[in-house]
Amino acid sequence: MDLLLIEDDDAIAESLMGPLTNAGFAVRRAANGADGIDHMSSGPSPDIVLLDLGLPDMDGYDVCRTLRATSSVPIIVVTARSDEFDRVLGLELGADDYMVKPLGARELVARIRAVLRRTRDGVAGASAVDEQDRLEVGPLVIDRRTHRVHLGGEEISFTPKEFELLVFLAEDAGAVRTRTDIVEHVWDANWFGPTKTVDAHVAGIRRKLGDPAWIESVRGVGFRLEMPSG
Ligand code: CA
Repeated sequence: MDLLLIEDDDAIAESLMGPLTNAGFAVRRAANGADGIDHMSSGPSPDIVLLDLGLPDMDGYDVCRTLRATSSVPIIVVTARSDEFDRVLGLELGADDYMVKPLGARELVARIRAVLRRTRDGVAGASAVDEQDRLEVGPLVIDRRTHRVHLGGEEISFTPKEFELLVFLAEDAGAVRTRTDIVEHVWDANWFGPTKTVDAHVAGIRRKLGDPAWIESVRGVGFRLEMPSG
């Protein structure tokens, strides 16, 4: 399991290396944002990225956005800033989880594993038969095992969070999923907060599906995924 650690602080980076290596990760470290982006575009793709937001050369959010533009690698944002605005922005830029410094190594490893479980082929998924991995809503075909989505035969790529949200809606197509259910299933308790985040992800999915009618907003309740009737 390859982990890319983008962290400018030597002491923090060194304190994390040991526990991460012991937990089975091959850690590559980038000491600034540009170096981190380089690592993504040159070397082998990491399985997960730990991204410090306070970097000397670039804003960590810009690094996050840049990584997300070309990759669906899970990203855990690490920061000393914990206010809500930053959290929402991090989610909208495609981060999968968020941790506030100082980092406990044990919790960090647990969170990395949780994110990997949520975003990759899970242990449970590996033994499931193909049909159970496939969700079909009209021309929309979602493969949970390969994390691929096709619409009318054309592949569409989604961020990990968009994908999870799409799966959650498609698992019960036609039914309304409440905002609370969505937040609990797609984000975890640590993310509970502004529902504006849900709207931003719904908007992203609608845009990629090319027709807003795919996801209907049910005022005051939540969202419903359905094949557009037109
Ligand atoms: Ca820093």
